[in-house]
Amino acid sequence: MKRYAFVAIVGALAAAAAPPASAPAQEQPRARNVLVVTMDGLRWQELFGGLQAEMLTKAAGGVGEAAPITQRFGAATAEERREKLLPFVWTVIAKQGQVFGDPSRNSHVRVTNGLRFSYPGYNEMLVGFPDPRINSNDKVLNPNVTVLEWLHRRPGFGGRVAAFASWDLLPWIVNAERSGIHANGDGAPVARPATDRDRLLNDFAADLPPYWGATRFDAPTGFGALEYLRTHRPRVLYVMLGETDEWAHGRRYDLYLDAARRNDRFIQRLWDTAQAVPAYANTTALLVATDHGRGDTATDWTSHGEKVPAADRIWMAAMGPGIAPLGVRADVSVTQSQLAATIAALVGEDYAAAQPKAAAALDLSVAIRARSRGGGAGARR
Ligand SMILES: [Zn+2]
Repeated sequence: MKRYAFVAIVGALAAAAAPPASAPAQEQPRARNVLVVTMDGLRWQELFGGLQAEMLTKAAGGVGEAAPITQRFGAATAEERREKLLPFVWTVIAKQGQVFGDPSRNSHVRVTNGLRFSYPGYNEMLVGFPDPRINSNDKVLNPNVTVLEWLHRRPGFGGRVAAFASWDLLPWIVNAERSGIHANGDGAPVARPATDRDRLLNDFAADLPPYWGATRFDAPTGFGALEYLRTHRPRVLYVMLGETDEWAHGRRYDLYLDAARRNDRFIQRLWDTAQAVPAYANTTALLVATDHGRGDTATDWTSHGEKVPAADRIWMAAMGPGIAPLGVRADVSVTQSQLAATIAALVGEDYAAAQPKAAAALDLSVAIRARSRGGGAGARR
């Protein structure tokens, strides 16, 4: 007995002495489900630095009265400001997971499609490579198979992949016709209302103003996705939020910030809702990203595209099983195209092997040393 215990202790010491980097990735815990949320055109400047005071004028941000916005989102440091703007991202995701794209930490996330607008960005993110054929925001069925469609065909995922968007282009981007994915991008957020709650949600959505035409407000999108999660238990749920881009194009910095704040609250609701369900608790990963950046100045922050090179800088964040709590990742350079394989890898599927053109999944496992945990003042001021 004594001898056995001695051998066991030596064995344990030997195991403890092994460098963590030697642990193969497949031994890390994997999620069974993944939630993906994008905030359209939300800049890294606000993600890492919160409110940028230079925008609080009529000319720069369409802001008549700065005081209420400063009151709500202002603070002395970038860390305080970003936590006021995106409390769930900064007090939960950044503590339990990882955030990429803070240039002040030598952390770079780039769009590689060169076009820096939405459909090319969503294609790059969901397909894993830029495709020059996707060169407009027109309603063209995506000729590429997205990682959502690929997962949908994998054993155990059939009928368990769904997508909700504020932008009515979603069914084209995920080629709902071919993929068979439940894709809701306009109209009633609950496709088959079964309860008074569902009917109220649909009636309420129908009574909101069609302010932008192709993009609805994020509220019906988010509540539709939450209802779907509760009632259908998808293993892969993608939610494409749109208001941040629309208010920015409209040069309404106040409403852009407000939309980001509401998006953060939605992500928290989605996460909390999932964690309260046994099928999702502790087996669900969360990925948050964006389709493109925007201009860097008080003039061109509203814009993005081929003529706005600064818009190739984006950010991404993740937490959940298999994702080490490394906080703001430093000294790293990744691309939007890596998201597709990452979504699959989080649920244990190797998309990059099936699609050779796809960029590799991000390495989010504990094999990476936690030298950059916590802080990271991303702001320009
Ligand atoms: Zn845009």
